[in-house]
Amino acid sequence: MTIRTTLSLMLGMTLCFSSVSMASQPLAEANMLAATKQTNQVQVQVSSVSDTTVSSAPSTAPQATNSDTASSKDSSTPIVAPITNIPNKKAKQTSGPAKPKNMIIMIGDGMGPAYTTAYRYFKDNPETQEIEQTVFDRLLVGMSSTYPAPVSGYVTDSAASATALATGFKTYNGAIAVDENKRPLTTIMEMAKKRGLSTGVAVSSQVNHATPAAFLAHNEHRRNYVEIAEDYFNSDADVILGGGQKYFSEALLKQFTDKGYQHITEFAQLDSITEPKVLGLFADVQLPWVIDDKQGHKLSTLTQKALDLLSQNEQGFVLMVEGSLIDWAGHSNDIATAMGEMDEFANAIEVVEQFVRERQDTLMVVTADHNTGGLSIGANNEYAWEPAILHQITASPEMISKALIATDEWQKRFNELIGFEATDEEIAKLSAARMQGQKQLFTTILSVIDLRTNTGWTSLGHTADDVQVFAAGPGAILFSGHQDNIDIATKMMSLLPKAAR
Ligand SMILES: [Zn+2]
Repeated sequence: MTIRTTLSLMLGMTLCFSSVSMASQPLAEANMLAATKQTNQVQVQVSSVSDTTVSSAPSTAPQATNSDTASSKDSSTPIVAPITNIPNKKAKQTSGPAKPKNMIIMIGDGMGPAYTTAYRYFKDNPETQEIEQTVFDRLLVGMSSTYPAPVSGYVTDSAASATALATGFKTYNGAIAVDENKRPLTTIMEMAKKRGLSTGVAVSSQVNHATPAAFLAHNEHRRNYVEIAEDYFNSDADVILGGGQKYFSEALLKQFTDKGYQHITEFAQLDSITEPKVLGLFADVQLPWVIDDKQGHKLSTLTQKALDLLSQNEQGFVLMVEGSLIDWAGHSNDIATAMGEMDEFANAIEVVEQFVRERQDTLMVVTADHNTGGLSIGANNEYAWEPAILHQITASPEMISKALIATDEWQKRFNELIGFEATDEEIAKLSAARMQGQKQLFTTILSVIDLRTNTGWTSLGHTADDVQVFAAGPGAILFSGHQDNIDIATKMMSLLPKAAR
């Protein structure tokens, strides 16, 4: 590493720390600072890609980039693209990526590294010698830290992390695209709209849950679901697909349809939607667990539809896709349900990957907002993990527990639904739990599955592990190596077209 790169790194770090105390500054300035910081960080990233760039670049390059950024008083161009902004002769030498026309960010909620690893062994064909690669193995480029603003410590929630990914700013846990003083932060979706791009979200939770909310709304707390749904009207998003009917009142739906939105509630209606705008709410709250709806392929279908609709805009689009329920399964410490959600999120990623490979004008970035449950692949001092059993389970443990409460022939029903013959010891445990009600029975079914598969968990909440970053398409190289979650946002923002004056 050259001295210049080191200095540039240090400057980036200083600005990173100073950004914590800049909450009282006007937002435009705050954005500017972030832009300056990001330009530095990306500069380092790009430089490190090409040795010739590092050694031959004029020593004034980073300062020139900074002053370019600082002298721009136009807050509508908060992030200056690092590659096209550097002097021309240098740009020639940099094997930097062209700017993508379209960008897709996909978030596996709670999908820490243990989930993608577990998924690999879950998908492995035991008949073959090799362990087959998954889409995650194929697309891996880097890692990301996820910590929130200092006021919330090191362990983030989905709201703070989604705010980081959508705006490029750290905030407190619970915040939806607002800073520590509860002032709105500009999102990548708002920037995209300003530049004439289309925007959309496709998720498996309610559409106004924390992750999509941070992309399309501003609110001081993630649980203000109705306020967030109302704020979606202001987002002008072209495609909003997922669950959450209960949060959209008749009056609010009328506002949407008056504005030209097609409002649908049945999956079969998707075929009739051939152009934006669309508000598709397919469940009261979240979509069904994949393990209970194996042929549904809901998230990948919604993703394909979102691509079909958004790509009609010649200017381009920004789409956020979330595998929302990976996290929910993680909170329950439910490995069978988690693997089902992982499988459909992987399907959705493959839909996007195909789109990216066919067109070559689209960037896809996949990451997680945090890790959930402290999942461990192997536990109890044993060197083993047995995912084969998970393939035999025909329903979610939640569904199984409900079914067993409802029938006296519960032992027979258990064996049918779980896909293996319970031992006497397991039956005794389940029987005792069943007398205490469905919740206890659910927990006991989970513990039977954990023991059979030798799966471990350390928490019913989140953990602060770094998460992986996957990318493909023009600009993908920017996401390699270690980065922070706010960097993912600022890198993507830097790839947006210049704002119209
Ligand atoms: Zn969570």
